[in-house]
Amino acid sequence: MKWLVAKRVSQIRILEAARVLRAGGLVVMPTETVYGLAADAFDPCAVRRVFELKGRPSFDPLIVHVLDTAQLVTVARAVPASVRRLIDAFWPGPLTLVLPRRAALPAGVTAGLATVAVRMPRHPVARRLLRAFGGPIAAPSANRFGRISPTSAAAVQKEFGADTPPVLDAGPCFHGVESTIVRPSRGGFEILRPGAVTDAQIARATGRRVWLRGPRPPTAHPEAPGLLRQHYAPSRPVRILRPGWRSSPPRFRGRDALLAFREGIECFPGVVRVLSRRGSLREAARNLYRLLRQLDESGARRIFVEEVPAGGVGSAINDRLRRAAGVGDRPGG
Ligand code: AMP
Ligand code: MG
Repeated sequence: MKWLVAKRVSQIRILEAARVLRAGGLVVMPTETVYGLAADAFDPCAVRRVFELKGRPSFDPLIVHVLDTAQLVTVARAVPASVRRLIDAFWPGPLTLVLPRRAALPAGVTAGLATVAVRMPRHPVARRLLRAFGGPIAAPSANRFGRISPTSAAAVQKEFGADTPPVLDAGPCFHGVESTIVRPSRGGFEILRPGAVTDAQIARATGRRVWLRGPRPPTAHPEAPGLLRQHYAPSRPVRILRPGWRSSPPRFRGRDALLAFREGIECFPGVVRVLSRRGSLREAARNLYRLLRQLDESGARRIFVEEVPAGGVGSAINDRLRRAAGVGDRPGG
């Protein structure tokens, strides 16, 4: 895959950011999925600062980013043989693995769970930062809890305003939706959060059964709170438009906004944004959060979002759209 980094980040900026991390501070790092709020994974105070700045409940564990397998084994106690196939196939890349954790990792990172979620990012700037820092970096998405994930430095600034930590601005993120979170289970792989790597890709690479975790009753301690019903949400009410809606549309009003998958919307009274003119799911994923933010800031009263075709990265997009609408955990697509 060709790597397009829209903005060059100087080595001096990388070294400064590594110094901030070493001193227990936070920085914002680009990854190929979304921008992350980065802290030294082994510094419990720095990790606490991440939760405070995001307003993230302490039960919602962070993803730990590693440069290589040498860093991986400092946070994960065991790497099952089946998981090695996934690592070979998808790392570095947008796949997060849930593995047994090492006791030395601060409990706050994993929200007290016996497992740790780990990922080896592919983004060259994330990798340069990991190398300069020399250890695993805990980094959730760089947004306030429950809100839209940022895919640009400007979006991060809007989230945190004057509290924004130093940002390594490398331009827009390549995938635009979060990593796929996978847990080895019963001879196969359970997808806890659909993302940029698809279930079909995982099944093909491993020859094992892959399934999407179904709906479960809300608990006080969700195992994957990325699966909270309301998440990735604009401040305006979001309404889902199911396939076929164009033949019998709801009554739209002038201050409604519409996020459409592809071209061909006629007679919509308010602002319209199109995820992909040519109907590409990959392009739609890349544009999703940027356009959702634009509509949120447009002064619209309600935001209607059109479901995209199921399958491939469409599952991840529809998952985020449903959670933005507060109707997550619906099976399908
Ligand atoms: P974010 O980095 O904001 O995309 O959120 C990271 C997500 O990773 C969390 O919301 C959890 O759903 C998931 N996660 C982190 N650690 C674990 C774990 N040990 N087991 C299952 N899911 C996890
Ligand atoms: Mg997040």
